[in-house]
Amino acid sequence: MPEISRRTFLHLSGAVAAASTAGLPHPLRARPRRTPPVVVASGNGLRGVEKAYRMMTEEGADPLDAAIAGVNIQELDPADQSVGLGGLPDERGVVTLDASLMHGPTRRAGAVAALEDIATPSLVAKAVMDYTDHVILVGKGARDFAIRMGFKPQNLLTEQSRRDWLAWKTSLNARDNWLEWPDAAAKHTDGTIHMSAVTAAGDVSSVTTTSGLAWKIPGRIGDSPIVGAGQYCDNATGAAGATGRGEAAIQSCGSFLAVEFMRQGYDPEDACLETLRRVVAMTEDRLLDEQGRPQFGLSFYAVHKDGRYGAATMYEGPQFAVASAEGARLEPMAFLYPND
Ligand code: ASP
Repeated sequence: MPEISRRTFLHLSGAVAAASTAGLPHPLRARPRRTPPVVVASGNGLRGVEKAYRMMTEEGADPLDAAIAGVNIQELDPADQSVGLGGLPDERGVVTLDASLMHGPTRRAGAVAALEDIATPSLVAKAVMDYTDHVILVGKGARDFAIRMGFKPQNLLTEQSRRDWLAWKTSLNARDNWLEWPDAAAKHTDGTIHMSAVTAAGDVSSVTTTSGLAWKIPGRIGDSPIVGAGQYCDNATGAAGATGRGEAAIQSCGSFLAVEFMRQGYDPEDACLETLRRVVAMTEDRLLDEQGRPQFGLSFYAVHKDGRYGAATMYEGPQFAVASAEGARLEPMAFLYPND
């Protein structure tokens, strides 16, 4: 076990004192989380963390290559309507994708935003990192670049996502020219996959990829393609990433902040919780309820380069995916607010 620094000890004591009112600390906190190598992801990344972990431990894969291979599973799965192929489209019915990534050992980054027709924006972001002197390409430029790099364009709008879009479109306004579908079901409008990985050598990488907010205004991008917001990685410390309301992760520089909190000595779970507290403090009044709680969901995931890991979410409920020597599994997330 590592020595607990005075700062961490004081911080933990404070968290214990706050536990009775804030629902913290989460019971799992007492369990030591220090088993490098390790991969963490949002809850939809269970298959992905298992793959990434296996690649790193059995094939000696680079942590970024492993994490990208992990998120590729969701990007290429038409049933995951929050990422890649089958992602829910914007208000016109056009699927646009965002992704960013960072490679700890080389301190490099790549990203694409508002990318159309390419199912694996994480790999296009990697190509931006590997083959250009830039960090972000957007829109048509990103698509043209991807095609020049050999990616094959395809229609990303699946029949299910098209029907969901149409159901949303026709139920918007009773006085427009669309006839409503009586059985139109409300559909979730967000989702993303984030994955962070640390190897046995303590090398760290992170990647986040998404189709963004469903039915978004064309041109809107969220936090996922923004380095420091949707993900961040510093090989001297660790990596973090976000899912949920992207605007809040952007306004707080959330993933950068979570890594900075780890650099200051916070445990990964505490770093995520502290970041959420900052998000709340930075939230506009119009997005707060009568009790001062944000009216949106947001989650952070973090790994320390020493193999500790953790995650936290605004409201009790979601789980996150972890793969370590103990296998791949879903674990409950710490949270700021219990569900009442
Ligand atoms: N963070 C994503 C975005 O704002 C959406 C999500 O994770 O739910 O685009």
